[in-house]
Amino acid sequence: MGELHVYDMIVVGGGPGGYTAALYAARAGLDTLVLEKLSAGGQMALTEEIDNYPGYEAGIDGFTLGEKMQRQAERFGAKTAYAQVERMDLTASPKVLETSESIFYARTVVLATGADPRKLGLAEEEALTGRGVAYCAACDGMRYKGKTVVVVGGGNSAAADALILSRIAEKVILVHRRDTLRATKVYHAPLMQAGNIEFRWNSTVTALLHGDKVTGVRLKDVTTGAETELSCDGVFISVGRKPATELVRGQLELDRSGYIMADETTKTNLPGVYAVGDVRTKPLRQVVTAVADGATAVHMAEEYLAGGV
Ligand code: NAP
Repeated sequence: MGELHVYDMIVVGGGPGGYTAALYAARAGLDTLVLEKLSAGGQMALTEEIDNYPGYEAGIDGFTLGEKMQRQAERFGAKTAYAQVERMDLTASPKVLETSESIFYARTVVLATGADPRKLGLAEEEALTGRGVAYCAACDGMRYKGKTVVVVGGGNSAAADALILSRIAEKVILVHRRDTLRATKVYHAPLMQAGNIEFRWNSTVTALLHGDKVTGVRLKDVTTGAETELSCDGVFISVGRKPATELVRGQLELDRSGYIMADETTKTNLPGVYAVGDVRTKPLRQVVTAVADGATAVHMAEEYLAGGV
């Protein structure tokens, strides 16, 4: 058998947390590989304009920022392999990552797999995605210029999506299962003042009405049980996110929602395995907190590689 190539660090996921880890690792002289299934940027790449990442005073689109982060890490020698990880053995020594392409080995692993939009689980939800069902107003909002759209959810994402859409669509109907928003106060006044946002409180979407595309939704009033139908051209589902942790379930400690248990150190319950960005338990999931995690993970990994824990 030929000699195994064992990387000092393999980063799984090429979003902001992943490429910041790769940048710091490469600059620390670690032999570093990023495994990315699609293209750099992760969820950030789907964001049309990022206005709260310091240094870009006029804002920057997430796709471009993702590419910049990748190029910056690669300038210092980090490599990228485009492959989907299918299996991991994080307790083995070295750690084993099997992908669709080949098997990789590493002394340390940084998990930066992020979190995907949560689905409502409605019949035909998947089939209608792109044909009226959407999960990102900044990405797909422009398709609904002058139309009527429903936004489902009551958190910050739903509030931000409703505001984006209120500037594009003719009418926005925010459907929330309770009678108060979870979204932070800063959103309340702009939502009320938008002029074209209506609210359906205490309501859930029970069905998508459609021909070839979405034509409306069926709503259920959770207090009375009454069902009504509402015509619309699009439904933006903004009900939170689901962490991409299926591959590590059983190996790493996860919280009730499936996020990898890791504090500010990014250390997981396994030595040499770190969780950064949206995939770990944390109070605020933003680009700026993901990149901070990336830097911290490398600091911890260097200590581990030097013989600490
Ligand atoms: P979130 O805060 O978890 O809110 C999810 C919303 O969807 C809640 O209002 C929840 O209702 C509702 N919901 C969940 N499952 C549902 C279901 N099956 N049917 C109907 N409604 C359902 O998620 P998020 O808004 O995506 O935010 C995620 C994180 O990103 C948060 O930490 C947030 O602060 C952050 N974020 C920040 C900004 C910002 O501008 N600062 C923007 C976007 C996101 P209940 O309220 O009844 O639980």
